[in-house]
Amino acid sequence: MKRRKRKENLKNLIWAKTNGICAKCGRGVEIDKRTIDHFIPKYHGGTDDMRNLIPLCKACNRAKSSRLMSIEECCPFLDEEYIKQIRKYVGK
Ligand SMILES: [Zn+2]
Repeated sequence: MKRRKRKENLKNLIWAKTNGICAKCGRGVEIDKRTIDHFIPKYHGGTDDMRNLIPLCKACNRAKSSRLMSIEECCPFLDEEYIKQIRKYVGK
């Protein structure tokens, strides 16, 4: 129960980055279709760092899968502030 709650909180934080729209397709997404995706997939060494977590709808998440994408391709609807964070994360 506790664990689930923590997960929900994280999801809210990530989705607050875009105010509830998908970072890739820009559509407003209902709560039960919201997912969190890793910009750099875990498969490619990405971590659970907040900067690496982006809000994607289920469809975009599925389409992205574990591919590496450019910021422009992956999150055109993300605010500049968060884009900068991703750049920093990628550059480290
Ligand atoms: Zn989407």
